[in-house]
Amino acid sequence: MKIAESVYLVGDGEFGLSDKADCHVYLIDGGKKKCLIDAGVGLGTKEIISNIRSDGFDPSDDIDYVLVSHAHSDHGGGSKSVKEATGAELIAPVGEAEFIERGGEDLEFGLRVTKRSGVYPQDYRYQHTKVDKVVKHDDCIKVGKFTIRVIQIPGHSHNTAAFLIEEAPRSLFSSDIVFINGTVGLGNWPGCSLDNYRNNIERVSGLKVERLFPGHFSWTLKRGQSHLDAAVENFKGAWLPPAWTHNHPFR
Ligand SMILES: [Zn+2]
Repeated sequence: MKIAESVYLVGDGEFGLSDKADCHVYLIDGGKKKCLIDAGVGLGTKEIISNIRSDGFDPSDDIDYVLVSHAHSDHGGGSKSVKEATGAELIAPVGEAEFIERGGEDLEFGLRVTKRSGVYPQDYRYQHTKVDKVVKHDDCIKVGKFTIRVIQIPGHSHNTAAFLIEEAPRSLFSSDIVFINGTVGLGNWPGCSLDNYRNNIERVSGLKVERLFPGHFSWTLKRGQSHLDAAVENFKGAWLPPAWTHNHPFR
């Protein structure tokens, strides 16, 4: 579903495009090269592939890269199946790629609490797979005509990355770091850290973002930076910043 120039929503649980646990899975059309942002949970991969086809792309020929923002199941659990279905190169940030490849107690703990909160089916199993390229904060990935900069902000998880299209209109795929109105992705799992969030959130300052595409809920095509600035401001006060639990669909 085309939602903006060069941006398609091909997977999503809230609007019913794919499995209910899927985060927003975006397709960026950079012309000669294309990429997905995030891979979903792995239970809706067939629907994601079918959506890519309905939008006029050939899943195995046209998708060159899958950029996974962090390992959490709703974003990274589909890494293996999406990679297999597209043949794309899997790219993930350092500090998250390891969990996608091998899992670990922190990821499993997070899976247990989110299952308990009804986010995933009880019998859901994370499918681990090799990450082809590990990126870090400030790295750039060329996707056709676009330069995509990695903005890593520990806080929601150990090392979640947002992805910034540097060309106009400047667009940030903010994953679970910042949502519309500046709410943030705080939760009760290992790797989530108020200190890390507070110490790193200023990395979204001054990015001059026009279009903001978060990993859940709504997005905006104008004045995206104001939503990012609101999140930065909320971390300057004394109280817990407003978090997504106020409107999380699984709550
Ligand atoms: Zn997450």
